Amino acid sequence: MSAATTSDRTRLRVRVTGAVQGVGFRPYVYRLAVRYGLAGFVINGPEGVTIEVEGDRASDFVATLPLEAPPLARIDHNCVRETAALEAKEFSIGTSEAGKLSTQIVVDAAACQQCLSELFDPESRRYLYPFISCCHCGPRYTIAERLPYDRRNTVMRAFRLCAACAAEYADPASRRFHAEAIACPTCGPRLSHGISAIAAAIAGGQIVAIKRLGGYQLLCDARNQDAVQRLRRRKQRLQKPFAVMVDSVERVSDIAEANAPELALLESVARPIVLLSSRNNLAPAIAPGLSRVGVMLPVAPLHHLIFHALRSAGACVRTGPVIVATSANLCGEPLLIDNAQALRRLKAISDLIVTHDRDIVARADDSVVSVVAGRPRFIRRARGYVPEQIRLAKVGAVRARRRRSTEIDRHHHAGQPSVRLPAYWRSGYGRGHPRVRGDDPTPYIEP
Ligand SMILES: [Zn+2]
Ligand SMILES: [Zn+2]
Repeated sequence: MSAATTSDRTRLRVRVTGAVQGVGFRPYVYRLAVRYGLAGFVINGPEGVTIEVEGDRASDFVATLPLEAPPLARIDHNCVRETAALEAKEFSIGTSEAGKLSTQIVVDAAACQQCLSELFDPESRRYLYPFISCCHCGPRYTIAERLPYDRRNTVMRAFRLCAACAAEYADPASRRFHAEAIACPTCGPRLSHGISAIAAAIAGGQIVAIKRLGGYQLLCDARNQDAVQRLRRRKQRLQKPFAVMVDSVERVSDIAEANAPELALLESVARPIVLLSSRNNLAPAIAPGLSRVGVMLPVAPLHHLIFHALRSAGACVRTGPVIVATSANLCGEPLLIDNAQALRRLKAISDLIVTHDRDIVARADDSVVSVVAGRPRFIRRARGYVPEQIRLAKVGAVRARRRRSTEIDRHHHAGQPSVRLPAYWRSGYGRGHPRVRGDDPTPYIEP
């Protein structure tokens, strides 16, 4: 904790709006305040984040604030005014402020590099743990039931933090300081099957359903024509192309041609499916008669673990494993997110159904993007991109936009500290995605 100096004390109140909740913004503010020897507090508020800083270097703090913000944060507006000094001695992270809600919820983000290093580090207590996350990665939008984005308002409240996680959550030096979705093998969600069993099923030509961020997903070996055809028959999807997943950006060139903007999109935290020129060396049933193939990189730690197990088991050593990754739903129906429903409905499609006990609140399909003249063109804007652009405060504008764009809304309950999001908001984007049709000749990759 920092002790503020006593001479010429300035106390500033800073209100920050934008994508500032659930992105490690409060821990960032805390560390910055400590760096400048300031007292005060930071809290999630109805408008975004409210900060009060007191001390000689309060102005330096305000000047630096937008410059070093966390990677997933976006500051739209920064309002500063002077207030009376309180001779405060410490800086703290407060509980959330009540009031009308108008802040934004942040998109889910692919596993970050630091979490991946821990995931495969035998010394880490989250070694091979599929629900590893931190302030800079993991689920947000798909697990939030209410705003503001605090653990108690997400499905993670069902998992009481163990002592080790609680210590990280409370430690300003930890990159999981106030990371709301924090979990570990002791206290967090659990997967229904071992990773080696999942990998063995895929390598053996079976169709596997997994519960990933925002909904269930079907996987099978993308080089196994028989498996892909079986998936088509069972899913009653006879023509539309499937997307495939490779384990790293280096492996993309094995199966497709990709230029720099396309590779950058593949590697972005949103991890969309990117349509690329195919080398036609996968099962022909993946994209019958098409010159392009939808490619994506692993999104969740679970995907990385499956690839790791496939490689360890010696599957596809020469070329690297490639798996079909498609949304788990029956033809024309929305993406499945509920465990009981998935176990019932996916029996006819998949040979193995891998589930876990972290609920999904909002559906989020994979986004599909094509790069045209160096610029991304959305074919489906979903996971990783929604609802980033939507300001919850502007309900009227959102309603008007809803007819042609992403569906999102919330009730206005003046004075309530948190608001339950309405059912259709929670039910996500199943068949209502905005689609930019443009002149792209490639058929859409449907859920
Ligand atoms: Zn992380
Ligand atoms: Zn724990």
